[in-house]
Amino acid sequence: MSSRYYLWTVGCQMNKADSEKLAAGFDRMGLKATDRMERADIVVINTCSVRQHAEDRAYSKLGRVRDLKKTKPELKVAVMGCMVGLKTDELVKRYPQVDVFARPQQFEPIIELIDGPTEDLGGEFWPTTYAIPEGPVAYVPVVHGCNKFCTYCIVPYRRGREKSRPMDEVVREVAYLAANGVREVTLLGQTVEAYGHDLAEQPDLGDLMRELSEIARLDRIRFLTSYPKDMTHRILEAVAELPKVMECFSLPVQAGSDSVLESMRRGYTRAEYVEKIHEVRALMPKAGITTDVIVGYPGETEADFEATCEILEELRFDKVHVAAYSPRPGTIAFRKMEDDVPAEVKAERLHKVEEIEERISQEINASYVGTVQPILVEAIRKEQPNGRTRTGKLVHIDSPARIGSMVDVRIEHAGPFSLRGNPVDALVLA
Ligand code: SF4
Repeated sequence: MSSRYYLWTVGCQMNKADSEKLAAGFDRMGLKATDRMERADIVVINTCSVRQHAEDRAYSKLGRVRDLKKTKPELKVAVMGCMVGLKTDELVKRYPQVDVFARPQQFEPIIELIDGPTEDLGGEFWPTTYAIPEGPVAYVPVVHGCNKFCTYCIVPYRRGREKSRPMDEVVREVAYLAANGVREVTLLGQTVEAYGHDLAEQPDLGDLMRELSEIARLDRIRFLTSYPKDMTHRILEAVAELPKVMECFSLPVQAGSDSVLESMRRGYTRAEYVEKIHEVRALMPKAGITTDVIVGYPGETEADFEATCEILEELRFDKVHVAAYSPRPGTIAFRKMEDDVPAEVKAERLHKVEEIEERISQEINASYVGTVQPILVEAIRKEQPNGRTRTGKLVHIDSPARIGSMVDVRIEHAGPFSLRGNPVDALVLA
């Protein structure tokens, strides 16, 4: 069996979680990680095809792999993730140096490549292979795939249909993480509220969060990404009721105009989306809510774009992740729609959304000044600890604090992207 592996990852949290699981499996088989490709016996490139930029980065890595294999022909190379799928023929032709292509979460071809044990892999090995926690926060996929088929999105074609992990399996994994220093878990799904509908007992995300709340050493539970139609009142009540669940939502709207939403096949109208946000805020008035927006979608008129700006002004999100539309091969929009909004118009619209978001984020963040927020310290950068509020705000702490500790911080300064403050205890001592 090969002895050293180099694993490179680009893309979303789900991709990172897949890589961490594969790395944990490699470790369990006795392989050693290396952060230098040149030293590896096996190279795994975990790709993303949601944006062109992510694909370009993977191509650049694959270029390096091609050069390396010329001098090291025994090197074993695997490509996994969302670039593997419809485009595999083209990838095979372009990169004959790659030994196997594996779709997301399909680790078996990679294990076969390294002559690892293939029996029982679908049974006990992967369900009990947990990523080794590197700090107090961890990501745990709970539902894989997506059934929604939004026209611009490649995910359902590459990650397949929604498939939930059994509840006891998730509970075991989170208990293991908590026993190893994790204090906050983020439950992941492309549409995380879809959790459970395909399981025998049909539990929902609220049921799962109730079970996880029983784990003594776990302090916080987050979840993303939300999909308005799947976010039921029952789930929202669980979020509001359970003290460990953070009031922190990632709820993409994508557009403010009904005609664009319909063309995107998002499955909801503007009014239904607005109603959902009101429902969240009626239960949790201080909830932190972020959203995603695409500008320059095929056919988006000036009036459509104005409708997007209006909904951002009306709903006042904590953060807006904005992207200019780019056609992704394999999607419905790529096949059927003309990418007809000029690049300079897309850039202008992107800029306008960024301006709105920066102003509103600054105003919302300013309302935190003077309040005391419990912060889970996640990391220390340049000697400054940082962590997040229960609403998901990034807070820099101006005094020493231990990673993994929960600190009450009085917020003294607010910028559009983060907050800053000092521990209450330190102020009392001063
Ligand atoms: S809900 Fe739509 S955008 Fe989100 S992963 Fe599914 S298809 Fe893609």
